[in-house]
Amino acid sequence: MEEKGILQAMPVMLAPFTDPLNHEVSEAAIQYGSQTLRLTKSMILHKFIMLMGKGVDAVFIVSPNVRLESEDCKDSGRHLIEFSQVDIEMKGKDKRAFMDLTEELYVKMIAGLKHTCPDELAYFRRKLTTPTRPFKVYESKELLRKYGEGWEGILSKASSEPFWVLDHTREFYDREDEKRRGYYHNYDLIYPEGFGEALSGGEREYVYDEVIRKMDERKMDREPYGAYLELVRQGKIPRTSGGGFGVERLLRWVTGSSHIEEVTLFPRVPGKHIVI
Ligand code: AMP
Ligand code: MG
Repeated sequence: MEEKGILQAMPVMLAPFTDPLNHEVSEAAIQYGSQTLRLTKSMILHKFIMLMGKGVDAVFIVSPNVRLESEDCKDSGRHLIEFSQVDIEMKGKDKRAFMDLTEELYVKMIAGLKHTCPDELAYFRRKLTTPTRPFKVYESKELLRKYGEGWEGILSKASSEPFWVLDHTREFYDREDEKRRGYYHNYDLIYPEGFGEALSGGEREYVYDEVIRKMDERKMDREPYGAYLELVRQGKIPRTSGGGFGVERLLRWVTGSSHIEEVTLFPRVPGKHIVI
């Protein structure tokens, strides 16, 4: 990150708004005086606001994320209700630029890990292959046609290297193609060997009418997002692309662990009683 001039920012943990996510989690909010403050689910909207800064071209944050996931995720092996996300965003860049950065980062991480931690990898009986670039790229709708709803698990199990999947219908802030409605300029990076999703990201929506249209389509309450929406309305939020990956999921993959709780110091697993 440092080599690329990507600036590190510290996280915020409480704000009137956070990531709405594209799946239901229980509300994690506190009442402080007259305000409802939500615990951070990701730094997404705050990343956009940081990039308004002159001379701030790219940022990253390692932030705690609190997502009160449903108890059904208890045995998924890859869900926690509190985890750490490396959240990155770049100004004026398209999806390929972000995918390139991610590929470079993953190749560097794996090659570096093999070089510096051979004893630890041997302890885990883990043989890691440094991924080859460019990573393979698939279209989600094609995978759905070919493999059905379970495409992610099937292709992840069948693969030996991380790969990209493009075009996912999700939150209002991911860019939808202006001409080809329903096509999203976003991506997921998927780990091989059945470890599943590594990272999600995309090119972002920054045009006010589009943001409002998509919030309304998702029947969102705009009220908590007031200050952010005012910045979008004034045209102050720049065009960006970015994404984020979970630290514990990365550790699970590199160590070849079956459950994310094995690589987390104080694991908070959905539906499990927290004692420490
Ligand atoms: P998202 O933008 O919601 O896909 O979250 C970004 C990344 O955070 C995901 O690709 C995962 O690597 C990680 N992540 C998301 N939810 C969880 C969770 N409940 N437990 C652990 N890691 C997660
Ligand atoms: Mg995701």
